[in-house]
Amino acid sequence: MNSQVMKKVIAEGGKGAAITACMQCGTCSGGCTNIERMDMSPRTLILMVQRGEWERVLKSNTLWMCSSCYICTSRCPRGVRPTDVIEAVKAIAIREGIENDSTRFNQIFVELVEKRGILFEPELMQRYGGLKAMLDQAELGIKLALKGKMSPFPDTIKNPKPFRDALEKAKQQ
Ligand code: SF4
Ligand code: SF4
Repeated sequence: MNSQVMKKVIAEGGKGAAITACMQCGTCSGGCTNIERMDMSPRTLILMVQRGEWERVLKSNTLWMCSSCYICTSRCPRGVRPTDVIEAVKAIAIREGIENDSTRFNQIFVELVEKRGILFEPELMQRYGGLKAMLDQAELGIKLALKGKMSPFPDTIKNPKPFRDALEKAKQQ
């Protein structure tokens, strides 16, 4: 086992994740809500971390497909916390400049939320996928707007100061 990798994950918030306790039973993968979209199951990801297969872990789309639902963590019979491990590895991947469609999407999402405090979905689509992506989603957007589920115009939060303060605080942590 590559202790450097383990240290890295633990330093990023995987403390208490009890990675070494994993017995590869697969219960986490069996209950995972997004496993069909992942190229590496949570069980395998834990194994790769144990083995120190760092490159494979950092490049896995599992980091970005995980929705942090915590089902795997709540079901693990050994007290392993795959969700926290994934979050910890994700933080390292971002810091190490791993780039793919998911990191680009996340980056644009964060930038737009920081700008207005609330997301304007058409802008997200335009920045992420260009005009074509925006037009492809136009029908759905119009339906959502007509049902009052989405504003047809960019909006901003009414009292941005608490939001900005919380953002600053989060960035300093
Ligand atoms: S459920 Fe727990 S012990 Fe079983 S494979 Fe997943 S992390 Fe390992
Ligand atoms: S937290 Fe992530 S890995 Fe765990 S079950 Fe949910 S989506 Fe799957």
